[in-house]
Amino acid sequence: MYGLRAARLFDGTSGSPLKHPLVLIEDGRIVSVFANAAGLGDTPVIDLGDVTLLPGMIDSHQHLVLDATDDSVIHLASRSDEEVLARARLAARSALMAGITTVRDLGDRSFVLLALKEELAREPAAGPELLVAGPPITSPHGHCWFLGCEARGVEQMRAAVRLHAARGVDVIKVMVTGGSLTPGSVSHELQYGAAELRAVVEQAHGLGLTVTGHAKGVRGVAAAVRAGFDGIEHCLFLTPDGFPLGRAVVDAMAAAGTYVSVTAAFKRAPELDASNTRLAWLRDVDSLYRTMWQAGIRLVLSSDAGIGPAVPHDVLPYGAERLLRTGMTCADVLRSLTSLAALACGVADRKGRIASGYDADLTAVSGDPLVDVNDLLRVAAVFRRGVRVR
Ligand SMILES: [Zn+2]
Repeated sequence: MYGLRAARLFDGTSGSPLKHPLVLIEDGRIVSVFANAAGLGDTPVIDLGDVTLLPGMIDSHQHLVLDATDDSVIHLASRSDEEVLARARLAARSALMAGITTVRDLGDRSFVLLALKEELAREPAAGPELLVAGPPITSPHGHCWFLGCEARGVEQMRAAVRLHAARGVDVIKVMVTGGSLTPGSVSHELQYGAAELRAVVEQAHGLGLTVTGHAKGVRGVAAAVRAGFDGIEHCLFLTPDGFPLGRAVVDAMAAAGTYVSVTAAFKRAPELDASNTRLAWLRDVDSLYRTMWQAGIRLVLSSDAGIGPAVPHDVLPYGAERLLRTGMTCADVLRSLTSLAALACGVADRKGRIASGYDADLTAVSGDPLVDVNDLLRVAAVFRRGVRVR
């Protein structure tokens, strides 16, 4: 057993920091949290100094098999499973060093990440805890078909879910609409009908798994919500003409408690073309997420890490400032990255909070991210299952 001291603590939920906390840790778990505690007798105490201790961040949307280059998909096609696994191991490690202690991967190839998940479960200090979806379920030659799970029709959809469950995935990911990463795929077009989507949800929930859907087009978002999806990735409301507001869809999501995964973390500023259309596009996205937040929808910051050079696997905290544009407070942003992300990923019983019984996955940053969320980038220490890794 040992104790951790810091100047401030964000516990995953409360908007006011605990001053001069002492966190007791044993066997990788948090035993108790004290405010202004005096000595602990013979128990050793690490004093981290003038830092804020917070629950390790959770990135609920990564792709560890993609290498965060302009040609990530082409590179993947040229690599063996062994090479993909070796690179994924390094990518996961880079996330941990940035204070991201849990990674949910939503786009594996051929289930290679199951081996890394097991490896990191045996040796937690080597990387973040991995939650995996396996290859996303997509339509024949649909978005990300090259990851290896094409299905069409109710029976094939059910069979795909059963196969994933048997392999030991944590969540089912479905490509509800097309996406920009796949040549020939159109982001605003639906890939599935209502019966197919409903079949996935019924089969997955029956097996104790949640379902999240890639949906960039408004028809896809609406179809996923109607089918009972637990979460929606990107959720961009795209149509052939832009981002019209689907108010009925927004209200339906708020009523259903759907989690929206806001893939808005970028390390590099998005490149602008001469007419600044990219900038205008981003402003539209910001106003879309603002509308969702004001409607009471649960927004979880995520990254889509791996798909390109703007989104390496340690990028998540760079998105925190962007989330403020929705009208969130700093505390809302921190919740989105910790306790809310834990709920969305189905691990809220042991992740995302600093409280008795929770995993001792902790990040310490200089400054106070409850005042300036960019302090999340000033990482001073990282603990994974109670072991200091940075
Ligand atoms: Zn993705």
